[in-house]
Amino acid sequence: MPEPTSRIVNPLATTTPDVAIVGAGVAGGALAIVLRQRGIDVHLIERSNSFRDRIRGETIHPWGATELRRLGLYDLAITQAEAQPQYLWQTYRAREAQTPYHWADDFPDAPNGLGVNHVALQNALLGEAARLGAVIHRPATVSFNRKGGQPLLTVTSAAGDLRLEPRLVVGADGQNSATRAWAGGTARPDPAHHHLGGALIRGLGLQSDRIHQAFFDGGFVFVSPQADDVARLYLVVSSPTAMEIQVSAEPAGRFVEYFRDALPEGTIGPCWESVGPAGFFPNANVPVSIPSSRDVVLIGDASGRNDPSQGHGLSLTFHDVRILSDMLLERDDWPSVPDRFHAAKRRYFETLRQHARWNERQATDTGPEIDDLRARIARSREIDPTAGGFAAIFATGPAGLEVTEEARLHYLGLDLTDDVANVA
Ligand SMILES: Cc1cc2nc3c(=O)[nH]c(=O)nc-3n(C[C@H](O)[C@H](O)[C@H](O)COP(=O)(O)OP(=O)(O)OC[C@H]3O[C@@H](n4cnc5c(N)ncnc54)[C@H](O)[C@@H]3O)c2cc1C
Repeated sequence: MPEPTSRIVNPLATTTPDVAIVGAGVAGGALAIVLRQRGIDVHLIERSNSFRDRIRGETIHPWGATELRRLGLYDLAITQAEAQPQYLWQTYRAREAQTPYHWADDFPDAPNGLGVNHVALQNALLGEAARLGAVIHRPATVSFNRKGGQPLLTVTSAAGDLRLEPRLVVGADGQNSATRAWAGGTARPDPAHHHLGGALIRGLGLQSDRIHQAFFDGGFVFVSPQADDVARLYLVVSSPTAMEIQVSAEPAGRFVEYFRDALPEGTIGPCWESVGPAGFFPNANVPVSIPSSRDVVLIGDASGRNDPSQGHGLSLTFHDVRILSDMLLERDDWPSVPDRFHAAKRRYFETLRQHARWNERQATDTGPEIDDLRARIARSREIDPTAGGFAAIFATGPAGLEVTEEARLHYLGLDLTDDVANVA
């Protein structure tokens, strides 16, 4: 006798949480904590079995540290993920250490950034979310559907299949978001101008109370110290140079060479070791468009990726978590939240996106034209050190900044006459 094809052996269990968050990266973990602290019923679905180093954000600018404080997560980052406060920005030009910039002098309310291992931060946030009672499905896959117009997610894990019928689905599943695709959203990368690479090195012996940025002809190295004399090196170079380093025998060694050769002689000794992967990524911003929705909202990279060579991604993610959780907690009008949140995100994302584009050419281009542009920018900062407000973006974030053509010309010193700019 043939087997019946539609026999229901084990009807799926169904549950109706307030919120289902897809993805337990920094965005998903942080949001789960904040919502659980207010008694909201949260299910968190993560596909990976364990987090690994994917070369991601490990420098949190002062405005991101402020966002962490406002979310009540700053102490957790310090105690559970060993985040290191960075009070100073130390630059090196022509192999000379410049006078370090002390954030607190200009921004007493945003006195430091943080250096943190990304995996340690993900683990700390997920552990705290679980401790507060978020239901974690991991490793698990999710398939998206609708029933009677409402979201219906089927979560498959070692425990079997579970149907979730949440009031709200949050897509925190990164730049290739499956939640976004299901909701009909699209992501269109801007053209890449250069590449950013990352390597993880132990034993450089750098001061850990500051970030280090060393410039050379054609790019710069940005170094973010973490606990235990480990540091993340980010190398910003043209795309052809990145490809050439990527295929070389020892890419991590090339990162260290670039850094060492841009520092005062003898700053770095020979006894360092590579303790993670080394790889490059295009610098492109990835803006996202999302159709109107009453029950699906996107946060973090799923809702737009900022140029990683600007280092705003984590700060932007914490900002998203605060704006979204404030909207959810302030009143019980959840169906209006996705559209209101996405409209807010589009505005502040656009400011960071345009600012990143203003910075692209002078990051890695070389030659007389770009030397002139750098001279204009330097002269413009002598006249207006605030750069029309944009000089504060790493300390206070995008709030209050408007990206007009006038602002761009002023930022780049293109509004100065040649004689004022001292260029031919
Ligand atoms: C090279 C590089 C350097 C960077 N440097 C910095 C920096 O110095 N400072 C900074 O602030 N930012 C930096 N960023 C950006 C920063 O890393 C990101 O903005 C941030 O990690 C985004 O977090 P997220 O949680 O939104 O996404 P992700 O970190 O991508 O997390 C998404 C999570 O969702 C899970 N997931 C995905 N799909 C599914 C699915 N279908 N089902 C279930 N789970 C799923 C993934 O496993 C993952 O855990 C950098 C980025 C890059 C690429």
